[in-house]
Amino acid sequence: MKSPHDDVLIIGGGAIGLATGLALLEAGRSVRILDAAAVGSGASHGNCGTITPSHAPPLAAPGVVAQALRWMFTPDAPLYLKPRVDPALWHWLLRFAARCNVRDWRASTHARSALLNDARTLLADWVQRYGLACEFEEEGLDYVFRDPRRFQHYVDEAAVLAEFGIATQVFDGTTYEREEPAMLPGVAGAIRFPGDARLRPDRYVAELARVVRERGGRIEAHCRVERLERAAGGVRLTTSQGTREGRDAVIALGAWTPAFARTLGVRAPIQPGKGYSITYSRPSRVPRHPMLLKDRSVCVTVWESGYRLGSTMEFSGHDDTLNAMRLAALERGAREFLREPVGPEVQERWCGWRPMTWDDLPLLGRAPGHEHVWIAAGHGMLGISMSSSTGQLMADLMTGRTPAFDPSPYRPERFA
Ligand SMILES: Cc1cc2nc3c(=O)[nH]c(=O)nc-3n(C[C@H](O)[C@H](O)[C@H](O)COP(=O)(O)OP(=O)(O)OC[C@H]3O[C@@H](n4cnc5c(N)ncnc54)[C@H](O)[C@@H]3O)c2cc1C
Repeated sequence: MKSPHDDVLIIGGGAIGLATGLALLEAGRSVRILDAAAVGSGASHGNCGTITPSHAPPLAAPGVVAQALRWMFTPDAPLYLKPRVDPALWHWLLRFAARCNVRDWRASTHARSALLNDARTLLADWVQRYGLACEFEEEGLDYVFRDPRRFQHYVDEAAVLAEFGIATQVFDGTTYEREEPAMLPGVAGAIRFPGDARLRPDRYVAELARVVRERGGRIEAHCRVERLERAAGGVRLTTSQGTREGRDAVIALGAWTPAFARTLGVRAPIQPGKGYSITYSRPSRVPRHPMLLKDRSVCVTVWESGYRLGSTMEFSGHDDTLNAMRLAALERGAREFLREPVGPEVQERWCGWRPMTWDDLPLLGRAPGHEHVWIAAGHGMLGISMSSSTGQLMADLMTGRTPAFDPSPYRPERFA
């Protein structure tokens, strides 16, 4: 039987693959998205769902290495590195450490804010245009502190963020506690990022999939892509469901990208940065804004349909076990800040792998040495926030349109 043939085959059906599919369909291309599991069941499923231009500064900042070393041997710290022999991980960490300086911090912040700010506007447009029922609310996000020194550090950083178009509003502890009755006493202060937003990520990816199908895109779940090879005028994929052919392929495999890219001789230094979340039914007293409890790095997101505590960053390879100690650290962190830290009923305990690059920028563009292969991966902590602009940028690059912003910082060649 002849293999189906499409303009573009997208490998990976997370937020990035789906958003890229949607933008390509809108540009008039036929699209087929293939996922090894259920669509949207990777990192895009149980994350915190915050949409955060505020997070333009990268993880690699001056002083981070010293902090990370202190945390390294603390199994319930917000950042944990499982000590082990793994040359790819150590190479990644050395490159990451080398970027913990002001010059690289500014360069990454600049490139991240371009993608984030564009995505924020485009996402609001998509929600309206396609009627995405994903509990999207433009209600900002608060960083909340109990430690006055840490609060002051971020107040100082907030002044720098204005340069990158990130607005902030600073509250002293007393004012914030009055505004936010969900908090326990003892808040040192808070910083609000009014430009941030939130959505329910599992609904967002389900809605993207609906719109892709409505526009004629094909989505095949439980279809693992095993091999990609050149074929006349394009590419051929060998999958668990047979072969698929297309003119172009996009690798949108999140944390699974490096092993697949390696089969094509392409370097994609992405480490899985494992994070956890617990989803509950809604407590009766919830915060009015999504918030990051900064002293404990716990993110709190509230939707009409539920309540989620999430975060923590663990470099333990492709390990998908749920670590009870790290899940408990989420609840412990929330207990320090909130009057009702957990909901009445646990709906899901989850972990996922953030696709982390050492420069904290995704790989977006043509795969080096492959005319018909493209990469859209490595979005780290921000794949939901960056999904819409990533999709649009990929569609622009692949169809020869001029992108809305300079795509050069994300070129996959930088790792070649
Ligand atoms: C705890 C936590 C909290 C987070 N909070 C936020 C947040 O608040 N805001 C934000 O913007 N981001 C957040 N993130 C980051 C965000 O979740 C990721 O950046 C984003 O989901 C990555 O999307 P993706 O499509 O690249 O990868 P994924 O969603 O992981 O998709 C990759 C897909 O590839 C499929 N696949 C793998 N191998 C194959 C194969 N051989 N063939 C076919 N398919 C295959 C997988 O099944 C998977 O569906 C968070 C992450 C975590 C872990």
